[in-house]
Amino acid sequence: MVPSEESKPGKDKPVKRALVTMCANCNRVKLGSAGWWDLPVPDTMQRQLRITHSICPDCTQKLYPEIWRDIEEDND
Ligand SMILES: [Zn+2]
Repeated sequence: MVPSEESKPGKDKPVKRALVTMCANCNRVKLGSAGWWDLPVPDTMQRQLRITHSICPDCTQKLYPEIWRDIEEDND
């Protein structure tokens, strides 16, 4: 058993950079419960943010209809 870095105390310093979810296909940005918005994010701003790439529902529907069908069924 090797102790992991995460288990050590004092490692949970707050990260100042905001986490932003961006669609890898259409580059729209997720704004919490407001959904996905077609907003330009300048390179300078991207460096101050933690960008995590995902696929927005619209692109999921277009690119992965089979997955989308599963999501739709789950929402039922
Ligand atoms: Zn998209």
